[in-house]
Amino acid sequence: MNNQKRQEQQKAADKRYYQKHKEEKRAYSQRYYEEHREKLLLQRRKDYQEHPEIKEYQTNWRRTHKEQVKEALAKCYQKHAEKRRQYAFEHRQKNIVAIIEKERQVKRDTLIHYGNGKLACVKCGFEDIRALSIDHINGGGAAHKRYINNINLYRWLKKQGYPMGYQTLCMNCQFIKERTIVISVL
Ligand SMILES: [Zn+2]
Repeated sequence: MNNQKRQEQQKAADKRYYQKHKEEKRAYSQRYYEEHREKLLLQRRKDYQEHPEIKEYQTNWRRTHKEQVKEALAKCYQKHAEKRRQYAFEHRQKNIVAIIEKERQVKRDTLIHYGNGKLACVKCGFEDIRALSIDHINGGGAAHKRYINNINLYRWLKKQGYPMGYQTLCMNCQFIKERTIVISVL
């Protein structure tokens, strides 16, 4: 067997071996990189400093292989699409939870302030937050509320430093108050 033929056979065998163990090798490299990341990055920085020609070579290579670079980037982008979507989704979920929690806190603070320091209706003492809301003491509430509603009454009141003229009422007391006003007008 001549030398060239032997070389070719060896090359083919290497290729077969690589194909067979591709996934394993890739996983190993990935693991190795993750475990030694700091060290590897440090080494790379040192290499760049000591051999600026490496960076120059790479920059030149990228410049002359634009299509290949573009393709590789697109492939990478595609490969991590699912991961990215998952991350965005989780992040959004986390944000929504945080926003709702904050809104809830603002509502509590405001109701407590206008409940004279208690999370309760100032008329009857009812304490369930689900049935408590802010009442405009001297009326004009509906129009004002409609206007403010778009920016959230609770947030608005807190931002204004809790202006006078509001109180915490339960639905029952609010309903009774409205009825009393209607009857007094009739
Ligand atoms: Zn009440």
